[in-house]
Amino acid sequence: MTSPRFEEGALIGVLTTQPLDRVLDYRAPRGGCAAGDHVEVPFGPRKVTGVVWGQGAGDYDPAKVKSAIRVLDLPPMRAPMREFLGRVADYTLTPMPAMLRLATRAPGLTDPPGMRKIYRRGHGQPARMTPARARVLDLLEEHDGLGFMLGELADLAGVGSSVVKGLVASGAVAEEEAPRDVPYPPLDPDMAGKALTTDQELAAARLREGIAAGRYGTTLLKGVTGSGKTEVYLEAVAACLKAGRQALVLLPEIALTAEFLTRVEARFGAKPAEWHSGVTTTERRRCWKMVAENGAQLVVGARSALFLPFHDLGLIVVDEEHDTSYKQEDGVLYNARDMAVLRASLERAQVVLASATPSLESWVNVQQGKYARLDLESRYGPAVMPEMRAIDMRTEEVPSGSWISPALKGAVMQRLERGEQSLLFLNRRGYAPLTLCRACGHQIGCKHCDARMVEHRFLKRLMCHQCGETAPMPETCPNCEVAGKLAAVGPGVERITEEAQALFPDARVTVLSSDLFGSARALKARILEIAEGAADIVVGTQLVAKGHNFPKLTLVGVIDSDLGLQGSDLRAAERTFQLMRQVAGRAGRAEARGTALLQSFQPEHPVIRAILSGDEEGFWAAEAASRRAAGVPPYGRMAGIVISSPDMQQAFDLGNRLARLDAPLRRIGAQLFGPAPAPIARVRGRHRVRLLVKAEKTAPLQSALAEWAAQVRVPANARLAIDIDPQSFL
Ligand code: ADP
Ligand code: ZN
Repeated sequence: MTSPRFEEGALIGVLTTQPLDRVLDYRAPRGGCAAGDHVEVPFGPRKVTGVVWGQGAGDYDPAKVKSAIRVLDLPPMRAPMREFLGRVADYTLTPMPAMLRLATRAPGLTDPPGMRKIYRRGHGQPARMTPARARVLDLLEEHDGLGFMLGELADLAGVGSSVVKGLVASGAVAEEEAPRDVPYPPLDPDMAGKALTTDQELAAARLREGIAAGRYGTTLLKGVTGSGKTEVYLEAVAACLKAGRQALVLLPEIALTAEFLTRVEARFGAKPAEWHSGVTTTERRRCWKMVAENGAQLVVGARSALFLPFHDLGLIVVDEEHDTSYKQEDGVLYNARDMAVLRASLERAQVVLASATPSLESWVNVQQGKYARLDLESRYGPAVMPEMRAIDMRTEEVPSGSWISPALKGAVMQRLERGEQSLLFLNRRGYAPLTLCRACGHQIGCKHCDARMVEHRFLKRLMCHQCGETAPMPETCPNCEVAGKLAAVGPGVERITEEAQALFPDARVTVLSSDLFGSARALKARILEIAEGAADIVVGTQLVAKGHNFPKLTLVGVIDSDLGLQGSDLRAAERTFQLMRQVAGRAGRAEARGTALLQSFQPEHPVIRAILSGDEEGFWAAEAASRRAAGVPPYGRMAGIVISSPDMQQAFDLGNRLARLDAPLRRIGAQLFGPAPAPIARVRGRHRVRLLVKAEKTAPLQSALAEWAAQVRVPANARLAIDIDPQSFL
């Protein structure tokens, strides 16, 4: 597809990131331009950047149309990418300028290319050769001629940067100034991977075929934790790189990238490009540019990496595809898993959705023949799936203020005697979810939100999990001012840690919870230490459920298996099923078979029974049937509408107006519910009102919603957000 060219002075339409509802007319700059070019244009007294979207509309006084200033020195936005942005905008009801912002979110793109120091092989040998120096020189010779940044070179060679500097002094390494945004070190897809098992090889072969076909296709790669899904999809990456195309691997959690980078390096000889919030701004710009210039073969990233300007994208892997963090919950409300499928279809690329516990959406897409499916039935090596049992809490003697049953305690004792690790899982941060005054019954809440303050005893503060507000733990009740009557009610991981310490005084007990680590790096380091055996008992939130490897762990005790089953979320059963199976999958990854014990007050609940029996297909079929009967996703369509305002009445008035003006929704047979106060009715001082729209699977929901919402004017301090396919109903 060649993009239309525009001669100097021709009328062009330029999409900018300015919050306007249209593409603006300009005249093509000196030398002309083409659709997709990044350009600088005058905008009032300022200069802004934009992308040439096509011909100008011509509906603006021709005398007033200004000339674009210049074409920027950036690779043009390709037609499939422009189409992708348009389609995501239509699907999520997002204005195009916001889409462009998402696609150009790299700092300093318009700056002239900066310089920085790079290092290559120089001449001769250093006066004194050391093993460290030899490693640096070997590495440079191996990548003949390629320049590395200091940190990168030192990292790859496993030496300190002073070793490189020493080699520069002797001339054996040359230090040069080079443009800042250099290509990433090449990955070698011909390096040998691990020898695959029969199952793994079969799956890898199918994925390679898909890549070779050079067509769009989506495959669900399902396999228990530790079955080798990563090994298998790395084979697809290899095939993609061999075909000369780029690959993208999306991970749900930054903390997981370190382990993955190491595996990529072992498999392909160098690390891939990274794109997530933990990457420095200069690296982000380098990544963006190199992805566009084909100087990055593989990108590992968070969901927004989906909007990078790939030169030729051949494969997208969505690892842990069921993970809820793929849904962006503010700004542009998109689901990266679903948009990955859209992008791949426009790029003639393959998608691999990997998970031990796929989403019901993907399971149904397989049933309906839209996705292919590959299964890895067993764990790699001697490890087998853990034995799963329920502990019936109705028959256990647990003193009040305690949560670890005698049965679970006994199992942990056994592990301690054998020198193995145990995990106590509770998906609740902090010490206690509720702080109550025993004198007056007052519950301490957040000033700004309709939420309780959660005690974080390790940080010695109360914290709101909605807005992050913290306050010191008061001595007296803020309501009745009686001292010494505030009591913690219910458990969080910190409280379970305290209980475990008391029950097992000789054990090393540690807690893993996202709020207890200042940085992703600190968290990563701690996870590594634990994996190497630095703790006997780990108390953790869902953070530990996500793909970390703890080879010495043989017991998982779930403190409250019933926790996720309450609540009105349509996916409550699915989420509980996934989370419990993921957590259980942490046990017994090396030689010893693991055990998972689920403490439950309702062990006969169908979801708990399905988890224990391991009858996944049975569970999905039952869950699918009940969703179909209710006409909810994935069998029906939904949109969540949140109106928020500092003024409650204003939010309700707007909601009521919308409810009255529901003709566009009725025309497509959609049902409207609400307005009603949101389950979290106030966040950061803003009142929140919800409406819900339900429609048939085939109904043209977006156009109806757009027409419907356009009937009202949203007051300046109010906000109206439409969430297509909502994951959260809070
Ligand atoms: P998953 O992604 O399904 O959780 P991984 O790919 O991480 O599984 O594999 C689990 C562990 O087993 C990893 O340490 C991996 O290196 C190892 N492994 C898997 N398959 C093989 C294989 N064919 N040969 C050697 N090691 C393997
Ligand atoms: Zn708050």
